[in-house]
Amino acid sequence: MSASNCDILIQGGGPVGLACAAWTLQKFPDAKITLLDRNPISDDDLANADSRGIALSHGSKLLLDTINAWPKESAQIHRVHVSQAGRFGRALMTREELNQDALGHIIRYRDIHITLRRALRAIQAKSPNFVWRHIDKEVTENNIHAQCIVHAEGGLFKTQDWIESGRDYGQSALVGLVEVENAAPHQAWERFTAEGPLAVLPSHYGPNILNLVWCGSPESSQHRLQLDDADFLGDLQNEFGSRIGRFLKIQDRRLYELGLNYRKEITKDNEVWIGNAAQTLHPVAGQGLNLGLRDAYLLAEKLVGVFSGSGEDQFPANIQNALQSYAQSRKIDRTTTIGLTDFMARVFTSNLAPVVLARGLALSALQWLPPVKTALARQMMFGRR
Ligand SMILES: Cc1cc2nc3c(=O)[nH]c(=O)nc-3n(C[C@H](O)[C@H](O)[C@H](O)COP(=O)(O)OP(=O)(O)OC[C@H]3O[C@@H](n4cnc5c(N)ncnc54)[C@H](O)[C@@H]3O)c2cc1C
Repeated sequence: MSASNCDILIQGGGPVGLACAAWTLQKFPDAKITLLDRNPISDDDLANADSRGIALSHGSKLLLDTINAWPKESAQIHRVHVSQAGRFGRALMTREELNQDALGHIIRYRDIHITLRRALRAIQAKSPNFVWRHIDKEVTENNIHAQCIVHAEGGLFKTQDWIESGRDYGQSALVGLVEVENAAPHQAWERFTAEGPLAVLPSHYGPNILNLVWCGSPESSQHRLQLDDADFLGDLQNEFGSRIGRFLKIQDRRLYELGLNYRKEITKDNEVWIGNAAQTLHPVAGQGLNLGLRDAYLLAEKLVGVFSGSGEDQFPANIQNALQSYAQSRKIDRTTTIGLTDFMARVFTSNLAPVVLARGLALSALQWLPPVKTALARQMMFGRR
């Protein structure tokens, strides 16, 4: 099939675009899809790419399992300990309370990306009308005619060429891999410091090698990026305390600017936006990719319905109706996840005395009101349908 004429054009070969293509083709192998991908053809060229640890929920695992796209190297979270540096209020969430095998899983971004590429290649072998086109960075293809355009161009806050609604939190995240003396296996720590959340999360390298996500002002984060290892580890120890012993080593430090950027409308005529192309979130609640995967999964169901003729909205008349109904079906999950993340990002970065007090009370309430804790954890694990 010619790449210049297709039913569905997916722009963006990140995790969300790949997953959307894979779920659509898995259910409808004859789908005429063209995927435009700015990443290199060979997985080897991604080996040194983005290694930040991403928290995926159990709900995302269930979705990715359906296309055989669960990475081999992942670390389970069994307990999450939440606290405030130098203030009262703490909460502990455990997998037993929620009756789950794990509260979440930590996986490197590049492993999620590469595993999805492999899963899609396996599905591609049985999909005669699927075209996967690798294009150079900065190239924009505008000679492709498609019935439906799926935007999955993703991007990070401040690198996106669109800004709609949102908030600049004036924060950056410094991520890296840190070695400590004595961590409890499968435990995640989220600590709210004067400058923002500091998360120490398990990794598949073993109990004492942990993923660090340290949010702070852009200036402090830049300063921390440049510190020599010993000074960096000293500062980190001061902020985190001694719960997991001494911080011994840091590697692979990277910086990301953080903010909220989201589209009020995620469809227009025959176009639809999913994943970070629809909403870019602060990582405080670890929700961005989880939400993006749910976008991709539900959109794939709609697209299959339209283009295979099996759904209510059949092509060609009702592509717009189908996209509108998709947007409607995503409303509650999107609004809740964006709202909850924005709330956490603001509340947990404020130093105003009443907010600090309320935050301590909220953490204590979470600890002592199991139904509230369970409801919050369930929202984070499965989203809202
Ligand atoms: C520090 C940090 C920590 C995070 N932690 C978590 C977490 O714990 N849990 C979680 O769920 N989420 C987390 N996130 C969010 C998560 O990384 C994103 O939500 C996720 O990467 C979005 O996937 P995506 O495919 O939509 O976009 P991307 O990952 O940005 O991928 C988009 C792809 O499209 C390509 N592209 C761009 N433009 C074009 C074009 N015109 N044509 C073709 N291709 C194009 C790009 O090259 C890229 O490969 C975190 C984010 C940050 C910054």
